[in-house]
Amino acid sequence: MPTPHIRAKALSTVLERRPKHTEAPSHRISEFFGSNVFNEEAMRMFLTEDAWYGVRQAINEGNRIDRKLADQVASGMKEWAASKGATHYTHWFQPLTGTSAEKHDAFFEPISGGRSIERFDGGMLVQQEPDASSFPSGGIRNTFEARGYSAWDPSSPAFVIGRTLCVPTIFISYTGEALDFKMPLLRAIKAVDEAATAVCQYFDKDVTKVTCTLGWEQEYFLIDEALYYARPDIMLSGRALFGHSPAKGQQLEDHYFGSIPERAVAFMRDFETEALKLGIPVKTRHNEVAPNQFECAPVFEELNLAVDHNMLLMDVMEKTARKHDFRVLLHEKPYAGVNGSGKHNNWSLATNTGKNLLRPAKTPKENIQFLAFFVNTIKAIHSHADVLRASIASANNDHRLGANEAPPAIISVFIGDYLTKLLDGLEKNIKGAMSPASKTELKLDIGRIPPVMLDNTDRNRTSPFAFTGNKFEFRAVGSSANCAASMTVLNTIVAFQLREFKRTVDALIMKGVKKDEAILRVIRDLIVESKAIRFEGNGYGEEWRAEAKKRGLSNIQDTPRALDVWERKETKKLFAEMGVLSEVELEARHEIELHSYVLKLQIESRVAGDLAVNHIIPAAINYQNRLIENVRGLKEVLGPEKSKKAGATQLELIEEISEHLGKLKSLTDAMIEARKQANTIEDHREKAIAYCDKVKPYLDRSDTMPTSWNC
Ligand code: ADP
Ligand code: MG
Repeated sequence: MPTPHIRAKALSTVLERRPKHTEAPSHRISEFFGSNVFNEEAMRMFLTEDAWYGVRQAINEGNRIDRKLADQVASGMKEWAASKGATHYTHWFQPLTGTSAEKHDAFFEPISGGRSIERFDGGMLVQQEPDASSFPSGGIRNTFEARGYSAWDPSSPAFVIGRTLCVPTIFISYTGEALDFKMPLLRAIKAVDEAATAVCQYFDKDVTKVTCTLGWEQEYFLIDEALYYARPDIMLSGRALFGHSPAKGQQLEDHYFGSIPERAVAFMRDFETEALKLGIPVKTRHNEVAPNQFECAPVFEELNLAVDHNMLLMDVMEKTARKHDFRVLLHEKPYAGVNGSGKHNNWSLATNTGKNLLRPAKTPKENIQFLAFFVNTIKAIHSHADVLRASIASANNDHRLGANEAPPAIISVFIGDYLTKLLDGLEKNIKGAMSPASKTELKLDIGRIPPVMLDNTDRNRTSPFAFTGNKFEFRAVGSSANCAASMTVLNTIVAFQLREFKRTVDALIMKGVKKDEAILRVIRDLIVESKAIRFEGNGYGEEWRAEAKKRGLSNIQDTPRALDVWERKETKKLFAEMGVLSEVELEARHEIELHSYVLKLQIESRVAGDLAVNHIIPAAINYQNRLIENVRGLKEVLGPEKSKKAGATQLELIEEISEHLGKLKSLTDAMIEARKQANTIEDHREKAIAYCDKVKPYLDRSDTMPTSWNC
């Protein structure tokens, strides 16, 4: 707790601060967009024809880049980076800690005769061995080999930040196991490409590649730096562990889409400029629901790039915030009592022919293709809801899911009235073999899907997974999460489902059923099978919990239990068959996530204990002493009789404080004891469960504070 002195000082600092304006390089964003990226334009300028062609083949076809070519690319990249003022380079990767990692090396290298050169060759570009023994590996590196390698990912372009050339890389163990978020994501992207392209072949022979698209929406809070420093809980755990609801929170709903405070706009402009230079196509900014909560969203991009851009943006935001004497809070639930922050993941599939596979089209033929992808996605969610739930599980997100502000922990799919009717109609219409008349009728129906259904589909904000006209929006993702975690799972389950679909349709065709009819029949079966996952009502309501239970849908409340799905045989089969994560990799991830859950709660619990014992209790005793002094003084001045009346409130407060002190102390002691017990447990899962069930409840208690604060 800040002492009153710090608090007063902090508040006055906030009021005194004026926005810090920095000028963008130009009013036309197109003039500086991507200027710090080794993009197509830069490559054309700095690479030889061969090198440029090789990189393009690597991006488009996934071809390998040999050492000679890598040398040429490295040399061009170094020249370009130097022209941007870079003196160092780093392999930029996304270890399982959840943030991005970098280790800078200078281009500079001493040579004989006291001279030096700038060096960056193909070997340095392609592979590095960061001293990475402290990154989490879930036992992989202990079991197999201590080293971890980062390897160049040519599908995401290099960029310069400050004076450093950053090369996006994957991070793997010596034996090839993924130790990061990017590697499995790339594998999942490949799996979807293969499965989706095969399905597209039913409709259009020109489709040879399907890419995933992602447009994320990043929510965050801003807090003045002085207030941040006054709160050890926010500094160390990202959220307020003690406190009371503000008198004016979000009741009036006057913050959402309101005019953005000038100081916040100055910050936004500044970080957006940096982001735009890095090629991150940020486009939208607005206030969010809670006080001092905001959102930033870009134009969607190819998934791997979009993920990198989100990681980069979070970093740029944090750095820029400091320049503006702000701190940006990316935690999913920094303050109890007001909304938390999410990161909606808008996801779709696009073909090399430029078509969005989740956009309803004008002709029946194209709409059967749309329905195939639409219904298979729903079926994928239906079959693998628990895996998707696990992909968004974290200690932070547990506070947000189901708190009547974000989707519940029950995974369901919202598709809107129009498509619900269409699917219901299909379910009834296609039974067994179809007559020519029913076929025509059906095709007409399908052909009539209005391409723009945004009004129809964008309204239900309570659904974790909603169709919004031409894409699905996964809303349960947490604000601080790496999108790769949920996107890897989503694409894996969709790929798995599309492959099943293709097999079933092909089997019918083999039996002599016409292609269109076979496709429609399988679509119908999938509609029937996946019906339970579809929900159009209010996801926040109690009734939905009861209804979901009846339907047999899971409602997993906490992270350690949500993660159990990684141990299931079906999950291991799913990820192994799609070539996304081996059993060893899955187990490692499970262990890392459990461990990180424990560490987060451990830190929170330690900070809470520290605040209670070293800050709150002393401050309360100080206050109590002042009251006691006051009562004594009153007695002295007014005499024993009169002072009884005059000091009544003070005496009441003195007693109330003692009561709270006692409670705070005994609860803190009990929490520390629970933590000690939990720490003795060896098994990762059991330990996480102990933290969840035995330690966490103490952090959630509000009865250590005067009740008047909470009503
Ligand atoms: P909001 O949800 O705030 O109403 P929109 O739904 O219009 O905003 O857009 C949110 C995000 O969805 C943006 O980042 C946008 O680029 C992205 N988006 C639009 N089309 C697609 C698509 N085909 N694939 C992936 N993301 C998309
Ligand atoms: Mg949206």
